Amino acid sequence: MDKGVKRGLEKKAYSGERLSRADGEALYACDDLAWLGRLAHHARTERNGDRVMFNVNRHLNLTNVCSASCAYCSFQRKPGEKDAYTMRVEQAVAKAQEMKDEQLTELHIVNGLHPTLPWRYYPRVLRELKAALPGVKLKAFTATEVQWFEKISGLTADAILDELIDAGLESLTGGGAEIFDWEIRKQIVEHDCHWEDWSRIHRLAHSKGLRTPSTMLYGHIEQPRHRVDHVLRLRELQDETGGFTVFIPLRYQHDFHDSADGKVRNVLQARTTMAAPAESLKTFAVSRLLLDNFEHIKCFWVMHGLSVAQLSLNFGVDDLDGSVVEYKITHDADAYGTPTTMHRDDLLHLIWDAGFTPVERDTRYNVVKEYPPAPKLADRRREPQQVWA
Ligand code: SF4
Repeated sequence: MDKGVKRGLEKKAYSGERLSRADGEALYACDDLAWLGRLAHHARTERNGDRVMFNVNRHLNLTNVCSASCAYCSFQRKPGEKDAYTMRVEQAVAKAQEMKDEQLTELHIVNGLHPTLPWRYYPRVLRELKAALPGVKLKAFTATEVQWFEKISGLTADAILDELIDAGLESLTGGGAEIFDWEIRKQIVEHDCHWEDWSRIHRLAHSKGLRTPSTMLYGHIEQPRHRVDHVLRLRELQDETGGFTVFIPLRYQHDFHDSADGKVRNVLQARTTMAAPAESLKTFAVSRLLLDNFEHIKCFWVMHGLSVAQLSLNFGVDDLDGSVVEYKITHDADAYGTPTTMHRDDLLHLIWDAGFTPVERDTRYNVVKEYPPAPKLADRRREPQQVWA
């Protein structure tokens, strides 16, 4: 990178001046990863100090039956396929209750676009979950699912959100965003919820007092300029509503898992590689620098592995999700040893060992518990650290 350009970017980053589209593209073009990390770490530390937030949650996927066949998705099944499933309401409640002892604060619920399940099923599940676990916040449904509910119910998103909120909905999930740029999106997304509907539904949710996360699926066929475009759309919407809690870059995964029928559903992998750790760290850093109106940048460790999750804390990330159990969407695509569960203690040590201070949060980023800062290095290294193979 030209020294003058580098100095200009440094000046902007350290003074807090808003970065442009061209700045974002220049940052992606830079191979000086340590320099990028330093800029992003400055922005992260100005905002969040040495705190790392995490939550104790459980992911619940009510059904993997989906009307769409998105090119990157290993999770979806068609009706009648061998390992297709749909939970009855009581099964969903029983699954959620399995983690009662973990002092769960959140259920994260996303699902396939089931062709025949009636709309009424969804608020009913929320009501039953809320009755069974009253202290647990329900973060449920992507904007894509809400648009699907409009189709199957004939109701407006406005009426749908009102009913879901009445049933206990605390937040939408951030999924369905993938990459908003149409040239890329039309090659990977098979349903018809695109930027216009995705932003309409999040805007509406924010107007009703919900705060929502936002995501980006990266590391497939998109170019860095598409990532910049994606986060700038979110930055603009955040300027308008202020309703986003966090931005979460999600690393696209190949399908390493042989399903029972041996069928590879992720048809994108024949033309892709996955993002290398350096590319992931760069994506976290550039996102932190561009999103000057977002409080938090999250690393979803399930998709990045624990090593990158720890390193990401020096590249702009201040939030780790979470104490996840049974994350089916990625684990249907994952065979490289990421654990399916991290308990509260595992997360605390992950954060302390990286030299940061853990803070447990709830779905709305309210503090549940402040923990002490990292112990001195000598104390932390007295015992060998656990390594996940
Ligand atoms: S990403 Fe979602 S909508 Fe697309 S095929 Fe998979 S489950 Fe269905």
